[in-house]
Amino acid sequence: MVRAVVGANWGDEGKGKITDMLAQESDIIVRFQGGANAGHTIVNDYGKFALHTLPSGVFYNHTTSVIGNGVALNIPVLMKEIESIVERGVPKPEILISDRAQMVMSYHILLDQYEEERLAGKSFGSTKSGIAPFYSDKYAKVGFQVSELFAGESYLREKISNICLQKNVILENLYKKPALDPEKLYEELLHYKELVEPYVCDVSAYLWKSMQEGKNILLEGQLGSLKDPDHGIYPMVTSSSTLAAYGAIGAGIPPYEIKQVITVCKAYSSAVGAGAFVSEIFGEEADELRRRGGDGGEYGATTGRPRRMGWFDCVASKYGCRIQGTTDVAFTVLDVLGYLDEIPVCIGYEIDGKVTTEFPPTVLLEKAKPVLKVLPGWKCDIRGIKNYEELPENCRNYVEFVEKQIGFPITMVSNGPGRKDIIYR
Ligand code: GDP
Repeated sequence: MVRAVVGANWGDEGKGKITDMLAQESDIIVRFQGGANAGHTIVNDYGKFALHTLPSGVFYNHTTSVIGNGVALNIPVLMKEIESIVERGVPKPEILISDRAQMVMSYHILLDQYEEERLAGKSFGSTKSGIAPFYSDKYAKVGFQVSELFAGESYLREKISNICLQKNVILENLYKKPALDPEKLYEELLHYKELVEPYVCDVSAYLWKSMQEGKNILLEGQLGSLKDPDHGIYPMVTSSSTLAAYGAIGAGIPPYEIKQVITVCKAYSSAVGAGAFVSEIFGEEADELRRRGGDGGEYGATTGRPRRMGWFDCVASKYGCRIQGTTDVAFTVLDVLGYLDEIPVCIGYEIDGKVTTEFPPTVLLEKAKPVLKVLPGWKCDIRGIKNYEELPENCRNYVEFVEKQIGFPITMVSNGPGRKDIIYR
């Protein structure tokens, strides 16, 4: 059976923790999109880890970790990540990398940096990991597939020379930066070949065979619905689809094999980067939630940037769950809200004097004002509780209110960062 764990919101919903938990009963965990630009934080018996490219199942002995063709593969970053977990006592994971995955090249990172510099204050808030230039090249059909590393010297040199011709016009004229050296690029590719060779395989064929054998496969999404390039808050989005449906493409499996879509939804909102964020809060109120949020505060796992904070947004989450094709909602970090006397929740958007509960495209979203409803808090620590009925009444009311507003069943409530901090309903 194939299941997907994806985000309903702007990312950082706690997908890593849910994936790590579900990985216990999975054989294979697959990353199918995105790159090293976002991170998952996982707390387990080995300690606290921030993963960027490795799937969150790498901490178990019984799982195979797969990098699907849809991923933006940064080979040096991946190798460093493997090293860093092994150094801390995690058994060397079994990793397979798709021969159809494309590689983030050093010039993608440069182009990302230079473009952010050029845009200055008007930038998209890129993490400068080269993801946008990488996906642009992939769809412009000038990217490097892992399989091409094995195509021979003359093939690679010819392709490099064409790429240099194109990139150098932009580098020298638009950005006023040094041109690319074809020789260095060739060496970069040889280096990548050496590093990646032990892991390369036909991932789609491997997954097909595994499905025939009845293996449990978990697809792990990065970021969330609202960062999807088609369905999110374009252009303040990421460059690959963050939706469960894309799991079929980015892993190379039939869409009908994805039987369960577990959408992770956080009990309050946080976002990184620019863009409309209707239920955003500011000042002391935001600082306190940020400080208490997640596990040790709401700061980016990759960048350390403070995240923007807001109340739970039923409009965005209902849409975020619908567009994912949600079968189950995992409602996370509920424990964090225990300090509040009252908890505002955004139940509608007022746009041009009209209230809607449908999530609009960006131009209208920019005009939206939150319609808030204030629910009573529960004023206690709910960590350690294992049964839903044992949660304080106001806490259950909060969960049930949200569930009704978003219209998808909350089957898991997460009340702490650890693997065991979970309440099944
Ligand atoms: P991801 O990218 O969706 O995996 O999310 P992040 O890792 O960026 O953010 C989630 C943060 O919240 C991490 O620090 C987790 O350890 C933490 N976390 C996950 N679930 C819970 C929870 O239920 N309660 C608390 N307090 N922290 C949680």
